Amino acid sequence: MRENTVAEGNTTAFQVHVLASGSKGNATVVAYKNTAILIDAGISARRITQGMKALGLDAANLAGIFITHEHSDHIAGLLQMVKQYDVPVLTREGTMKALIGKRIAGHQSFTVLTKANITVGDISVETFKTKHDAVDSMGISCYGGSHKMTLMTDTGTIDDRMLRAMDESDMLVLEANYDPQMLRYGPYPPDLKRRVAGEYGHLSNESAAQALLMMKRPDNLQVILAHRSEKNNAVPVVNDTVHRLTGEVGLIEGKDFRLQHGQPKECVSMVGQEA
Ligand SMILES: [Zn+2]
Ligand SMILES: [Zn+2]
Repeated sequence: MRENTVAEGNTTAFQVHVLASGSKGNATVVAYKNTAILIDAGISARRITQGMKALGLDAANLAGIFITHEHSDHIAGLLQMVKQYDVPVLTREGTMKALIGKRIAGHQSFTVLTKANITVGDISVETFKTKHDAVDSMGISCYGGSHKMTLMTDTGTIDDRMLRAMDESDMLVLEANYDPQMLRYGPYPPDLKRRVAGEYGHLSNESAAQALLMMKRPDNLQVILAHRSEKNNAVPVVNDTVHRLTGEVGLIEGKDFRLQHGQPKECVSMVGQEA
């Protein structure tokens, strides 16, 4: 793995930047000390490059690109990123085969994740399986210093194993894709509605809020709710659900946890806070 300086003045804090989130493209940068990695490349290489530049980070110094699964909203910019930067791509075996099928893999810098954990420069990474209609989808936890960031999107349900992966994360990028009522009465055809709401589809606002309640939460928890549907959800609806369910057990947003929302075209960031 390459170890390059990420950016001057940005070399200590654990940072998470959701460059884009939603069905039109997903890309998240995690940076700690001298290492930056990208999780998913579902927007153009140009947008990733410019988004990182605006943060004082250089895409040419990426130490790796982790791909959660092969859907186009997670890989649309991957081929160009690999060509442009010769950056290693890391993913599970099934996803790698799917990428080969799409003629994206086959490059010498592709790495199949055979174990659940790997260290890339200053960031330690753990991966875990998610429940999604892709061949071998995964979520990811990144560790640096006292911080743990877990990204889990594109999963129809959260099981106990996935909750344990969320435990003690002080930063979360968690899917809150749809509101069940909006999906039910929304414009999607019936089979697509079933797919989204199915066990291997996407996560509802309720399921996201319940996961927040069930995980082991540190005091300094920051959350970016992500992959929000444009048709079947809206920020105020997400907020209502999360506030209602967390409020029932006395958790207060802004005090017990901090909440932001991923956006299709704006960067949303978290910086690790000391407990
Ligand atoms: Zn997706
Ligand atoms: Zn997907």
